[in-house]
Parts: sequence; structure tokens; C-alpha cells
Amino acid sequence: MIVQTPAEGIMKTNDWGNSKVYRVTCECGASDHDHHVWVEADGNDVSVTIYTTIKSNWWNKTRWHAIWTLLTKGYIDTESTVILKQQQAFNYAHTLLSAIEDVDNFRKEHKEKSAVARLAEQGDCE
Ligand SMILES: [Zn+2]
Repeated sequence: MIVQTPAEGIMKTNDWGNSKVYRVTCECGASDHDHHVWVEADGNDVSVTIYTTIKSNWWNKTRWHAIWTLLTKGYIDTESTVILKQQQAFNYAHTLLSAIEDVDNFRKEHKEKSAVARLAEQGDCE
């Protein structure tokens, strides 16, 4: 299995150098199953945030049942599943790895540049 470029099922939606944003689509086509993946470098660390915007399953229950559940439990359970083909899962894993490496390298380069800039500024003062 080889990594595809562009990668099937993985859409890069933004890239600011120190952060990259992807949308991983579900095999079934429902947008509320998609993963929204943020790979961000800040300070000394890289973080990955993955979220899904889900809709409550109102069609599954009567409104009164949902309201009663909300009143008695304080919440309504909802879940979301993303289904990936083998190739897409492979692309997803590779995208995570390469995005983490990219933003980390960007962060390090930026840090080195600002350190050099600081040294240059100090040099000017003397
Ligand atoms: Zn789906």
C-alpha cells in the first residue's frame, strides 16, 4: 500500500505553517461523521485535535422521550462513527505523521530564526 498524493478521503482545508487543518470524510458520505483534524505547533509542543460535529438522533426517539431523557439524565447520548477504506486509513495515518513533523519543523525553524534575530539585536546595542 502506498501513500497517495492527493490522498483519497483526506482534504487539507488550511495550512498556516505552524498549523494544518484536514477533513477526513466518512465512507457513507454523511458530513456529521467526518473528522476535523487540527495539527498545531505552539510553544514547545505539537498538539492534535480531532473533532466531529454530530447531530442528535431525534428520528430515533419521540421528542417527549428525548426531553424526558434530558430532564432525568441531564444529557442525551449521541455517537458518531467514521468508516474508512483501507487506503484512506493508510492515508489518514500518514497525513497525521507528516503534518506533525511539518508543524514541528516549522516551529523549530521559527524558534531558531527568532533566537538569531534576538542575538543580532543584542549585537546592535553594544
Ligand atoms: Zn458515515
